[in-house]
Amino acid sequence: MRLALDDILSWLREDDETRLEALWRLADDVRADAVGPEVHLRGLVEFSNCCSRHCLYCGLRAPSGDVSRYRLNEREIVASALLARELGYGTVVLQSGEDRFLDVHWLAHVVSRIKRETGAAVTLSIGERATGELEALRRAGADRYLLRFETSNPDLYARIHPAPPGGQGRDRLEMLRLLRTLDYEVGSGVMVGIPGQTWTDLARDIERFRELELDMIGVGPYIPHPGTPLGRAPGEHAAPPGDQVPATVDVTCRVLALTRLVRPMANLPATTAVTTLGDTDGQTLALQRGANVVMPNITPRTARREYTIYPNKAGMHDDPLTYRDRLLERIRRIGRVPGTGRGDSRYRRSRRAASSTAS
Ligand code: SAH
Repeated sequence: MRLALDDILSWLREDDETRLEALWRLADDVRADAVGPEVHLRGLVEFSNCCSRHCLYCGLRAPSGDVSRYRLNEREIVASALLARELGYGTVVLQSGEDRFLDVHWLAHVVSRIKRETGAAVTLSIGERATGELEALRRAGADRYLLRFETSNPDLYARIHPAPPGGQGRDRLEMLRLLRTLDYEVGSGVMVGIPGQTWTDLARDIERFRELELDMIGVGPYIPHPGTPLGRAPGEHAAPPGDQVPATVDVTCRVLALTRLVRPMANLPATTAVTTLGDTDGQTLALQRGANVVMPNITPRTARREYTIYPNKAGMHDDPLTYRDRLLERIRRIGRVPGTGRGDSRYRRSRRAASSTAS
C-alpha cells in the first residue's frame, strides 16, 4: 500500500481508539491475504554473548563487566538445532554478539551440519561481518540474515552505535544490499522508543523497510538495561517531550501494522521484546496486528541466562517443550495455525520465479 510519510506519521500519533481499531483490522486483513493464517516458528539459539561493540542500548556491550561470557560449542549448537526439529520448528536462528574472535569457518561448518542433519532453514544474526565471511556462510548453506539498521536517523545511529574501537563499523545499509546480491533472505528492523527517537524518525524507518524491499522485519520496544549508558541516563539522550517516541506495546503494534501495509508479504515476528514488555498478551496483540512469526528461545538454559541484551527477557526460564505447547495453544485460540516447513519469504519465492522466467 502506498502510504505517504504524512499518513504514516498521523497513524503513529493517532489517539482515536475507533480509528485505531480500523488500522488493526486492515493490517490483519492484509496479513491474512498476503501470507495466510500460518504463524511460522523459528527456534532461536543464542550461541555466543561475546561482543566487541559498544552499543549504548545493549547489555552485552564489550564494557559490561558483569556479563559472564560464553560460546556454545559445535555439539551444543547442533543439539539445539535437533531439538528445534523435534519441536517442529522449520528454521534455526543462530544469534550472537558481534564476536570479533568468532571463527567464521567453524561457524560455516556448523551451519552445514545443521542443514545436513535437520533440513531446517538457517538464519544468522551475528552483526556486521566482512564480505568474504558472508559469502562463505552462504556457501555453507545459511539461508537468511538478520541485521537491524536500528534507526534511519544517521545522527542518532552514530550516537547509539559507535564504531568499534580502533576500527570502522560496516555501513549496515550497504551490508543489507550486499546480502541481497548474495541471495540471502534479508531481514532488518528497529527498536521502538530508543531515547532520542522522534515520531518522524520512526515514520522514516517504516519508509526505509519499503525501500529496502525486506523479506523479514523485526520491530520491538526498546527495553532499558541499567548497566548501559542509555539505561543509566535516559533523560540525557531523550528527544524533547512530545517528540520522543515512548517504548510501548501500543506503539510497537502501530509500527507492525503499518509495516504490514507497506510490505504485505514480509515475515514479521512478534518479537521477544514485545513479549517481555506485554507478556503473552503483547505477543498475541502483535500477532493480531500484523505479525506472522514467533521465535521461541531454545538456547540451553544456563547460557540463556547470560544472554542479557536487556533484563528479564521473556522465555528466560521456560522449558522448550512446555513453551511450545502453550504457544501452539495461543496460536489456535486466535484462529491461526502453526506453520509447517521452512516458512520462506514469499518475496524471495517471487524473485526466484521472476529470475527463472528471465533466464
Ligand atoms: N549482535 C547482533 C545481534 C544483536 S541482538 C547484531 O548487532 O545484529 C538483536 C537486536 O536486539 C538488536 O539488533 C537490537 O535491535 C535489539 N536490542 C538490543 N538491545 C536492546 C534493548 N535494550 N532493548 C530492546 N532491543 C534491544
